[in-house]
Amino acid sequence: MIPFIDLKTEYAEISEEITETVQRVLKSGWFILGEEVKRFEEDFSKYIGTKYSVGVNSGSDALFLALKVLGIGKGDEVITVSHTFISTVDAIMRNGARPVFVDIEPDTYCIDVSKIEKKITNKTKAILPVHLYGHPADMEPIMKLAEKYNLFVIEDACQAHGAEYKGKKVGSIGDLGCFSFYAVKNLGAYGDGGIVVTNDKELAEKLKKFRNYGSSQKYHQDFIGINSRLDEIQAAILRVKLKYLEEWNKKRRIVANTYNNQLKNTGIILPIERNFAKHVYHLYVIRCKNRDMLQQYLQKNGIQTQIHYPIPVHRQKAYLRLGHDSCLTITENVCNEILSLPMHPWISEEEISQIVEVIKKCH
Ligand SMILES: *Cc1c(COP(=O)(O)O)cnc(C)c1O
Repeated sequence: MIPFIDLKTEYAEISEEITETVQRVLKSGWFILGEEVKRFEEDFSKYIGTKYSVGVNSGSDALFLALKVLGIGKGDEVITVSHTFISTVDAIMRNGARPVFVDIEPDTYCIDVSKIEKKITNKTKAILPVHLYGHPADMEPIMKLAEKYNLFVIEDACQAHGAEYKGKKVGSIGDLGCFSFYAVKNLGAYGDGGIVVTNDKELAEKLKKFRNYGSSQKYHQDFIGINSRLDEIQAAILRVKLKYLEEWNKKRRIVANTYNNQLKNTGIILPIERNFAKHVYHLYVIRCKNRDMLQQYLQKNGIQTQIHYPIPVHRQKAYLRLGHDSCLTITENVCNEILSLPMHPWISEEEISQIVEVIKKCH
């Protein structure tokens, strides 16, 4: 069997360091908001290239709190995509604001920046692009629109740790950048975790209060926040793993390159990398007309695949009450054709060849 992802091999590679680290935290007797979180926040800011980082409970909370501290709520509109993980859009809804969907590009699967401006109204407060699959959205035109219309930009970088846009790490370009450390992400905890990065001191301080009941000093509360903190143990683990992120991303890029070479001239649509982009291949997503058949055939031959995502957010039961949006043609089409092949830093060339051989037989 060729698994979709392989966290066991990853762990085997760093198990000694992890054991030492976890024991150190256990022995310290300090488990919430201590030195480990502080150090990881410093390391992560340095890596991404922002002044501040605020560790939280998940990528979902990172997005929720990012919108919250910008004051986005009832009556406001936030421009985003429907072709994403549900949690991107949930963050808008949980703040009482309205998501306004823009279609995606058929090749990068990220927001089509040429279609944003006509969706801007006097209620629009922010643009929330998603760097989907590890490929950056086209940030420069987004930042220009944001400046022109006085909008905030929140980057959903939950699938793009280390991805670059014109040499800058994603997450560092908008007002706030949100990352998830869900176990299977390019940088994953052994459980849940997330972080918000920013260059704005005031926003960072507000985030630090918001993640901790709205309180910066014990038993003194400024406003009502939530309990959404990155655990000390997870922060310590993430500090170890962060050292390997560049190397692991490099391996993912090699895997993608090998897939690309072996799959060219098969008629299958392959992922692309724009000139402005450094793709980190959180997922390796191909596209073909006979997707369901291909997925079943691969499954029968012991190759695990997944679909990211089979139903766009605006088609989810939870979102039907928002009403149908007719201008999401690409979004509606690609979800029937996309297929995510096994992708992680430890796939061997032989495994890739095996996968490609099966694909060629079916296609
Ligand atoms: C994983 C992910 C999230 C949510 O992160 P969690 O840590 O699972 O809450 C949000 N947006 C995107 C694009 C994601 O891939």
